[in-house]
Amino acid sequence: ARANDSTKVEQILAQAHTLYKDEKSGANADYIPALAKVDSEQFALALVTTDGKVFTRGDIDSHFSIQSISKVFTLALAMEQQGPAAILDKIGANATGLPFNSVTAIELNQARSVNPLVNAGAMATVSLIEGENAAQKWQAISTWYGQFATTKLAVLEDVYRSESSSNGHNLAIAELLQSYGRFYGDVDINLDIYTRQCSVGVTTKDLAIMASVLANGGTHPISGAKLMSADNVERVLAVMSTAGLYETSGEWAYTVGLPAKSGVGGGIIAIMPGKFAIAAFSPRLDAAGNSVRAQKAIDYIAEKAKANIFSSQ
Ligand code: GLN
Repeated sequence: ARANDSTKVEQILAQAHTLYKDEKSGANADYIPALAKVDSEQFALALVTTDGKVFTRGDIDSHFSIQSISKVFTLALAMEQQGPAAILDKIGANATGLPFNSVTAIELNQARSVNPLVNAGAMATVSLIEGENAAQKWQAISTWYGQFATTKLAVLEDVYRSESSSNGHNLAIAELLQSYGRFYGDVDINLDIYTRQCSVGVTTKDLAIMASVLANGGTHPISGAKLMSADNVERVLAVMSTAGLYETSGEWAYTVGLPAKSGVGGGIIAIMPGKFAIAAFSPRLDAAGNSVRAQKAIDYIAEKAKANIFSSQ
């Protein structure tokens, strides 16, 4: 990108921040007690280009839990290890159209097929990750996330403990999948790893750097590491497009047109293939569990940058 492009990106991020910093609608997630206590006013934006330029705005040093955005990166690892056919066959790739922790989604579909970006499919995806034991599996996931972030990421212990002690619903989902032969390992071990991966602490800049690998066909724009095949990146982006924002994924595709993934910690990543990745963070969520400010900011940035995967203009 040329120097004046950089100035333009800085301006777009600044404008998005100014436009939505006073937006107060929505509320912190509170079904995980630790998330209810997070400062709701935090707001940060980051954009990383496929030539490795990093732009940031707002509370860029705030650490928050990655939550469901982790599902994207564990899916990427499982797909690299098992191949895309195994993901389609063992997890599924259709949007459920239902909330992220829906039990009904599993029951309605006779094949018990979900997708890797809702809790059921994400926990089953963790169960597919290779490793002799819990420690090895966690090590593999944690190392993998670090390669995307280009820095070691640490679990936020308070979030981990809080979610672990209020995890009955996810346990029920995992047990239900196991009863249908749609879970591929020990329920308690894999649920614990899933909870741990959701509790990983990130900054908005970390998230944008992680997401930039998906904008760049699997090669890291900053470290140069080849982390994923370009074919697998396409499939991860396809699932993000149809299911990344849960039951409002259709509206998101309709209005914004970028593959994205949200987390109940308040983060969202969005990808413009071949160009850049955006990350946004602010804790107040809408009814589907997607950050209100992050959605508005990404919508604005995408519009100003003329980024839409469905566009031919
Ligand atoms: N850890 C959260 C859960 O399992 C993740 C949900 C989310 O971010 N949508 O409920």
